[in-house]
Amino acid sequence: MNIILFGPPGAGKGTQSKYLVNKLNSFQISTGDLLREEIKKNSDIGKAITNDMNEGKFVSDEIVNKLIENLVFDPQKKNRLIFDGYPRSLSQAKNLNLLLEASKQTIDLILFLNVEKNTIIKRIEKRKILENRSDDDLSTILKRYDKYMKTTEPVLNFYSENPNFREIDGSLEIDEITRKIDAFINV
Ligand code: AMP
Repeated sequence: MNIILFGPPGAGKGTQSKYLVNKLNSFQISTGDLLREEIKKNSDIGKAITNDMNEGKFVSDEIVNKLIENLVFDPQKKNRLIFDGYPRSLSQAKNLNLLLEASKQTIDLILFLNVEKNTIIKRIEKRKILENRSDDDLSTILKRYDKYMKTTEPVLNFYSENPNFREIDGSLEIDEITRKIDAFINV
């Protein structure tokens, strides 16, 4: 199965992706993790994206599209992809469609974890203490949420037409969300 996890920052995409990776013996493709890795390595990409990442801005479509390309075409990962945080813009969604078509794959499930702003703020403040992420301070969180709302609405409209689109209340406890996801994948 190929699955997209979609939702605002702090919706629990990372947590549920890790669950799915274990359960389905799949591979998590987290563009956020891939980008943080580039910063850690101090690569050319890393240097180019540090400011945008710290300010809660989106990294260019060109960079993220390039980062995921090899992973989608990796034969070991074929039909075992869990997308976490990608696509985040309409152009990324269209790019993913092209890559999947070219590699003869489809998206089997699109999970939208829907959470409202106040819950997100509380969650990310907690995560900041636990993980010490430099993009997790309150003003950055608000910027990231607003950016998400603005750019992902077209993505949401794009995928909500898909028969494999499922919405889950992301303000539920982690275990409850997992149970709902299980119900979708165990059909
Ligand atoms: P995340 O770990 O998914 O919350 O992503 C952290 C940050 O990485 C975001 O605030 C963006 O700056 C950047 N980022 C991650 N995924 C993408 C993407 N698909 N498109 C553009 N920027 C991204």
